[in-house]
Amino acid sequence: MSTDPQSSSTATRDTVLSVSDVNVSYGKVQALRDVSLSVGEGEVTSVIGPNGAGKSTLANAISGFKSFDGVIEYRGSSVHGRPPESIVESGLIHCTESRNLFGFMTVDDNLELGSYQRGDVAERKSLVYELFPRLDERRNQRANTMSGGEQQMLAIARALMSDPDLLILDEPTLGLAPIILEDISDGIDAIQSEGVTVLLCEQNVTFAMDHADEIHLLENGEIVRSGSPAMLRDDDYIRESYLGG
Ligand code: ATP
Repeated sequence: MSTDPQSSSTATRDTVLSVSDVNVSYGKVQALRDVSLSVGEGEVTSVIGPNGAGKSTLANAISGFKSFDGVIEYRGSSVHGRPPESIVESGLIHCTESRNLFGFMTVDDNLELGSYQRGDVAERKSLVYELFPRLDERRNQRANTMSGGEQQMLAIARALMSDPDLLILDEPTLGLAPIILEDISDGIDAIQSEGVTVLLCEQNVTFAMDHADEIHLLENGEIVRSGSPAMLRDDDYIRESYLGG
């Protein structure tokens, strides 16, 4: 089904990720249609959209979990046909919607074992605990006894253990109470302050607007709006459909 396009080397020095005319189908269901976007160095780029819009499919195509037609380049090289582990090795880390924690293991063990290790483990761990003091307090707590928000934080922290260059966060706010969102928010700010480039897939439009430099609205597999948060806040369709008028 998929073609294997050559790397077109269209990425500029400031572009970490470039997605061009990407199509993905599950049988007869076309989940992504001609999706194009780019992610700039050190920026938070967000893909927003309702349930089933195709956000996770896009994240999975980028990180090697779903085959696609079109071109996806990370740091100027095509990811087409590369296995997920090779993509991870090059610094593109995907924190999935399902979190995938080891429930019966402690916070500390999840951090050590759950990530694909790049760089110095002890150094990374102390940085991660510094960024997430709530996890530091719970080093020896089993992951499955933590709150939803704490588990999400652990999933993000574990992704940070791999010293990401580009971090894909798929729905980090899913199912979390508004008060917990502040912690996740602080986490994303901390990640950005470390210079990590972020692709944030989010259904929570307000949350995405508070963090993103650039936003793309995905509906039924197609990007229907793109722009800065300020531009999209002024867009009548976005205001009426996603921001409560
Ligand atoms: P959500 O926020 O609910 O996770 P999403 O924006 O991440 O939604 P996707 O999970 O990417 O959306 O789904 C996009 C479309 O692809 C949907 O119509 C979904 O039903 C379909 N889809 C996703 N995964 C599969 C699969 N494994 N098999 C068949 N169809 C799938």
